[in-house]
Amino acid sequence: MVKLIEQDVRETSDYLEKPLLDTRIMKVLSEVPRHEFVPIEIRNQAYQNRPLPIGYGQTISQPYIVAIMTDLIGPKAEHKALEIGTGSGYQAAVLSLLVDKVFSMEIVEPLGKQAQKRLIRLGYQNIETTIADGYHGWESNAPFDIIIVTAAASHIPPPLITQLKPGGKMIIPVGSRFMTQQLLLVEKNPEEKVTVRQILPVRFVPLTGEH
Ligand code: SAH
Repeated sequence: MVKLIEQDVRETSDYLEKPLLDTRIMKVLSEVPRHEFVPIEIRNQAYQNRPLPIGYGQTISQPYIVAIMTDLIGPKAEHKALEIGTGSGYQAAVLSLLVDKVFSMEIVEPLGKQAQKRLIRLGYQNIETTIADGYHGWESNAPFDIIIVTAAASHIPPPLITQLKPGGKMIIPVGSRFMTQQLLLVEKNPEEKVTVRQILPVRFVPLTGEH
């Protein structure tokens, strides 16, 4: 799987502005057991470089996408991270090995509960999950060094910008739910000025909820 990710990274290096991802991230991707995060019937496909269905119309993201999103937000050991869209819990598990603490939010209750149980069973101890609409962020634990949104939004949710630390980064797919979206890297500089860089076209399940 790691070889397939590296190949995709090389092919998209113009977008990513580098030919290789951080070696720490590639190491973590080779360690997290992706087969534990997919339904038992399709475990044999777990190490293919593609998204897979996880029930409730949702998917576990393609490993290449998990890799580049994790790389682009530059996780550090002392960071506090927020993920919107727990899904299977795979992205949260990857991130948890690179930062101090991960908070992950899921709107589909059975998925969120299942992911929480799985993460506990697999021994990930620095991940806290909740069932809620991530559009509003998780105010009681804010601000965050890192925010990673794994569902496509029509716009960047303002509460997430508010909950980003000065010097923090957010990665989020933005665009129409029926077409490809753009992966955006949002940075808030120490003076709280926000800049947005467009990375590459992607396709995610939509960010749902009443917001
Ligand atoms: N990060 C996941 C990928 C999940 S797909 C993984 O590693 O497996 C996107 C997830 O976002 C879905 O589970 C979907 O139910 C969830 N989602 C959609 N809208 C949401 C919202 N408003 N708040 C929280 N989660 C949401």
